[in-house]
Amino acid sequence: MTLTVAETVAAVRQAVAAARSRGQTIGLVPTMGALHAGHTSLIEAARAETGFVVVSIFVNPKQFGPTEDLDRYPRPLARDLELSRQAGADLAFVPPVEVVYPPGFRTYVEVTEWQDVLEGASRPGHFRGVATVVLKLFNMVQPDVAYFGQKDAQQVVIVRQLVRDLDVPVRLRVCPTVREPDGLALSSRNQYLDANQRRQAPVLFQALQEAKALVEQGERDPAVVRRAVVRRIADAPDAQLDYVALVNAASLEPLARLEGEILLAVAVRFGTTRLIDNLLLSV
Ligand code: AMP
Repeated sequence: MTLTVAETVAAVRQAVAAARSRGQTIGLVPTMGALHAGHTSLIEAARAETGFVVVSIFVNPKQFGPTEDLDRYPRPLARDLELSRQAGADLAFVPPVEVVYPPGFRTYVEVTEWQDVLEGASRPGHFRGVATVVLKLFNMVQPDVAYFGQKDAQQVVIVRQLVRDLDVPVRLRVCPTVREPDGLALSSRNQYLDANQRRQAPVLFQALQEAKALVEQGERDPAVVRRAVVRRIADAPDAQLDYVALVNAASLEPLARLEGEILLAVAVRFGTTRLIDNLLLSV
């Protein structure tokens, strides 16, 4: 299996048009690179379900805040291309920043309200950058199906809404969070953790599991579940809790009582590294 690398919109469009003329459907897996088994699970899903698989690798500057890790974000391109090839991608779209944001660029996508809660409250401007680049990638590649990870639950909710609101002709597929054996959700940012922080990092997953068990035992008061998560995370001496949220999984609205489809999401800092994780609960 060979992997073609494209850096321009014209090159992607040409490869996609050729695939379509062969009768193939197009799958797109948007990533920021530093690929791990979470990303490759998306590429494998696309390989299984579509005829021509495009993985985009683009560290999108517009979704990073001014004090965030844009400059230190890992960019192991040769390794990413090899992992993409092994997972079954046909084309890697690796655009330089000027291709995505040419001089004079001034158009943004905002998914109002939802972009400002949870992750958006801690990372102002993040989802405006995400929504903008995702719509651009959809327009550049024009996939039939696009693959996203449940790991970034709010991103999924926001992208789903933008597809609906802006009539984007793409189907979305959401794939489960891939984890280390100790429960830590795979993330390109895990490599920032030192050995001590890495030992403590599974506390996010453990706290989510504890919350899930409480709800399964019949607890319906979000404040009780929230307190249990806060207590569990406090067990890790270097973990600084950013937020715990128990919200409606579709509307992201806070719940007075735990019922329906619930998104339980946590964000925790270890030093300068920020980790997120979530679970969906159905009550
Ligand atoms: P990123 O490179 O972090 O922008 O992620 C690219 C895609 O991979 C997004 O749809 C993420 O939700 C997804 N992803 C990241 N980590 C995981 C994981 N541990 N399991 C499943 N999907 C993931």
